[in-house]
Amino acid sequence: MPTTRTLEISGDGVRSADGRVEVLTGPAANDAVFLGLDQDHVAWFARPADAGCSIKGLREIVQEDAIDPQLLAILAQARSMVGWHATHRFCAACGQASAMADGGYRRHCPSCGANHFPRTDPVVIMAVIHDDAILLGRQAAWRPGMYSALAGFMEPGETIEQAVAREVREEAGIQVADVRYIACQPWPFPSSLMIGTVARAQSSVLTVDSSELEDARWFGSTEVRQMVEGRHPQNLSAANPYAIAHHIILAALAIIEGKN
Ligand SMILES: [Zn+2]
Repeated sequence: MPTTRTLEISGDGVRSADGRVEVLTGPAANDAVFLGLDQDHVAWFARPADAGCSIKGLREIVQEDAIDPQLLAILAQARSMVGWHATHRFCAACGQASAMADGGYRRHCPSCGANHFPRTDPVVIMAVIHDDAILLGRQAAWRPGMYSALAGFMEPGETIEQAVAREVREEAGIQVADVRYIACQPWPFPSSLMIGTVARAQSSVLTVDSSELEDARWFGSTEVRQMVEGRHPQNLSAANPYAIAHHIILAALAIIEGKN
């Protein structure tokens, strides 16, 4: 078994061969980021793909549903780390070129001595419940018929609960309470942590922010279940199983159905 493996990243994609993720063996290059050791003590690395390589998009890979979940997690880490280096080549304090250090988890500026570290941006995502209905919305860019949970970036100084309440108020015009954390998911486009929650609405009359959402409305739990399970009569769907939205919608259904 090889002791090192390298993934090559370009934008939101990974180097591929014959439509499959290409995992390179042999010594890691100088510009490779160390991702970690797996359970077989194989050291994983990631680096930018050379020009001309065949690249396959991560979203496409996920949607094919034919990839080992552990490799998917490594791919997400690889994309975030390579993307961070690609967009942080210069010191934010003095503007001079900085250099990779600590296996790729720091950039050091030789000019002013500043250190820069990769960041993760927290995003709250929430399935909002009112009686037996769940609030779902859609953006115009999504595939037709797809709805999902509302979401938005946290702002400095906010708690998760405050961010959930603000996003729902801004996007749908209602107040929520009783925010409950469910689970989270790193999301590598480019480097977010999706914080999945369920919340309860204190009113039901929506005022949808049309600059953010094409549509948002209440769906009864029976209809949401049809959407989640891919058997809605008008082919409406909820988020895909690889996205945390799917799982917080299931958590909201479980609450409505009295299982939680
Ligand atoms: Zn500097």
